[in-house]
Amino acid sequence: MSYDPSNIFGKILRGEIPAHKVYEDDVALVMMDIFPQSRGHVLVIPKAASRNLLDADPAALSAVIPLVQQVAKAVKHVTGADGIRLAQFNEAPAGQTVFHLHFHVIPVYEGVALGSHGGGKADDAELAVLAKDIAAAL
Ligand code: AMP
Repeated sequence: MSYDPSNIFGKILRGEIPAHKVYEDDVALVMMDIFPQSRGHVLVIPKAASRNLLDADPAALSAVIPLVQQVAKAVKHVTGADGIRLAQFNEAPAGQTVFHLHFHVIPVYEGVALGSHGGGKADDAELAVLAKDIAAAL
């Protein structure tokens, strides 16, 4: 299957719909997941167009992984999480729902079960504060 630019992350990258942005440069946009699996769940979205890992340009992957690491450290620092889960889904049977490559940076808190993938919507005011704090820690 080929990349379809009408996906929701494509729209966010083009500024057509709003997002709780944490960081943006030539390589990627970082934003809060609005249906977080835990407090501080962030998405790192490479700007290069691909559906997922399987059709991504290796050069785009090389460029984005250092940012994923930086974001993971900043999220852990800001949230006080005990660990960070990195997740990335390829095609619908594997759990992918938005078909533009992205990496989930999910804080894990000792003794707290993660919420379901694509569960309840988070409070916008809380997401705005987290986005600002994570941006400051980057
Ligand atoms: P995936 O299932 O890996 O494709 O993940 C898509 C993620 O995007 C899910 O975790 C959703 O909660 C999240 N999501 C969907 N729409 C939005 C949106 N408008 N802003 C931020 N996150 C979103």
